[in-house]
Amino acid sequence: MALIISNSYYMVANMINEKQALESFMARCREHGLRITAQRTAIYKALIDDRSHPSADMVYRKIRAAFPNISFDTVNRTLSTFVDIGVLKVTESHNRQKRFDANTENHHHLSCVRCGRIVDFESREFDELKIPDGIRDRYEVLGKRVVIECICDACGSNSRKGGRR
Ligand SMILES: [Zn+2]
Ligand SMILES: [Zn+2]
Repeated sequence: MALIISNSYYMVANMINEKQALESFMARCREHGLRITAQRTAIYKALIDDRSHPSADMVYRKIRAAFPNISFDTVNRTLSTFVDIGVLKVTESHNRQKRFDANTENHHHLSCVRCGRIVDFESREFDELKIPDGIRDRYEVLGKRVVIECICDACGSNSRKGGRR
């Protein structure tokens, strides 16, 4: 389901096809000699189910329900491994907490500076942004992503009384 904002900007509520994502997750694990355990699968699934770009702590709290003996360290290490093998991406947030994104396709972020909410959106115009030659010449560019810093609708309605920054 995609919410159309205009022809070229649209929010994607459910961009990840779970079955397809799991298949490519397993293929990646095999490629990298990583054993596919129930725990690892559950951690990955938590990420594709949760489109809020959760932190390691948020994933840990979720996964503990099914695996009460799992440690935060294990969850944290597993997430780092997933980033290394390319099934997750790390994204920045305003409280400097590492956040994880199971959507490894090209997309952009709306990032609320108050509550830390991160929402995916797609934009053809942003996809086509050119990287300046000076940068391309000096650095190996791995990707580009536009982050729109904002005050989300939920936070905005709370603060309207107090006026804007
Ligand atoms: Zn917010
Ligand atoms: Zn994202």
